[in-house]
Amino acid sequence: MKINTLIIGSGAAGLAAAVQLNALGQQSLALFTEGLHCGTSINTGSDKQTYYKLSLSGKHPDSPDLMAEDLYQCGSMHGDLALVEAATSAVTFANLIRLGVQFPHDLYGRYTGYQTDHDLRGRASSCGPYTSRDMCLAMIKELKLREIPVFEDRVAISLLCAGEGNQKRCVGAVFINRNTGELEYVFARNVIFAVGGPGGLYADSVYPLGHTGAIGLALEAGARARSLPESQFGLASLKFRWNVSGSYMQVLPRFVSCDVSGGDEREFLREYFPADGELCDAIFLKGYQWPFSCSHLPGSSLIDLFVYRETRERKRRVFLDYRQNPAGFDWEQLAPESRQYLQNSNATGSTPLERLKQLNAPAIALYRDHNIDLATEMLEIAVCAQHNNG
Ligand SMILES: Cc1cc2nc3c(=O)[nH]c(=O)nc-3n(C[C@H](O)[C@H](O)[C@H](O)COP(=O)(O)OP(=O)(O)OC[C@H]3O[C@@H](n4cnc5c(N)ncnc54)[C@H](O)[C@@H]3O)c2cc1C
Repeated sequence: MKINTLIIGSGAAGLAAAVQLNALGQQSLALFTEGLHCGTSINTGSDKQTYYKLSLSGKHPDSPDLMAEDLYQCGSMHGDLALVEAATSAVTFANLIRLGVQFPHDLYGRYTGYQTDHDLRGRASSCGPYTSRDMCLAMIKELKLREIPVFEDRVAISLLCAGEGNQKRCVGAVFINRNTGELEYVFARNVIFAVGGPGGLYADSVYPLGHTGAIGLALEAGARARSLPESQFGLASLKFRWNVSGSYMQVLPRFVSCDVSGGDEREFLREYFPADGELCDAIFLKGYQWPFSCSHLPGSSLIDLFVYRETRERKRRVFLDYRQNPAGFDWEQLAPESRQYLQNSNATGSTPLERLKQLNAPAIALYRDHNIDLATEMLEIAVCAQHNNG
């Protein structure tokens, strides 16, 4: 096959490229993918999965330059990429709205945002736990409406290149057709390589099962990588891969560790936070702050480091227990920030589970849907890879 533009991968990035190029008039394009329901975007989410764009509400002025500076200053992002991401973020957001993605807006049409760590302009927006899935489903619908050719069950195994040195270009790819086992060659003037993060690299990961990524193909073809060793880690459950950020922490579960056979249970965080109140505040902040900026370390990452030590260095298993409060739990000992947040959210139940029911009931249902009952069992967790900046 010979076409103008070959898109490899059908996550949020590949789908957006296909839909926008077609909307701009490019007819000669095709999308090759393992499957429209594979990859990270359509299979993951979190407590409140967040979409970043230029601020479109509030009183803080914003611009692509200001947003790019914020992204760049965090220290793990190439400046050119930060600027492109910032500059195109509002247009891309508008495209998603046009396709029917339900980002929240007020009566006057303002797309309200909220602040996260290292962003004071309220650039964050969310459709709930499944923002990226909603985006993908809307774009897949559009892909079909526009009759853009999609080839599923195709696994890219090699990139085709022409030229030498600085003139070397990618001119296509070789795929295995999973249905027939045959090789297929696609030649293209432009190749958009949207295969997602390298989920297969990590031992403990919250990338969806089966998503390995394919960055190795680009490296093998001679592409130079940036920021590849920089990954973002967070706490996630293991039996069902899901982030336990946000409200999962704010309701103050008990952190328990035990030996590999399930014996010798102990609340290991007490070792680091002996005073009452301190431990609960640290757990609360873990769900309240997002450690995007290296300058905020250790901050909310402290708990991650202690869990890492427990699992990797001491070879123990770590669990969250929503049935009982952490040792030394006392409303009066909590910092005003934690106490007020929980009180304002009416999450003042007597156990972590009751507070989670009050703060975010779907968070409990989600685990129940995956055969994990937080009312009767503890949730095994680890420090898991979640993003790669390469
Ligand atoms: C638990 C979790 C929570 C997250 N929360 C947030 C958040 O709140 N905000 C945020 O901005 N980001 C978040 N992210 C990151 C975000 O989800 C990803 O950066 C984004 O979805 C990646 O989109 P993508 O299109 O690049 O890749 P993917 O969605 O992974 O798509 C890759 C595509 O390429 C295909 N593919 C891979 N290899 C091959 C091959 N060899 N041949 C053919 N096809 C191939 C895959 O099947 C898939 O279709 C989170 C990630 C995780 C894991």
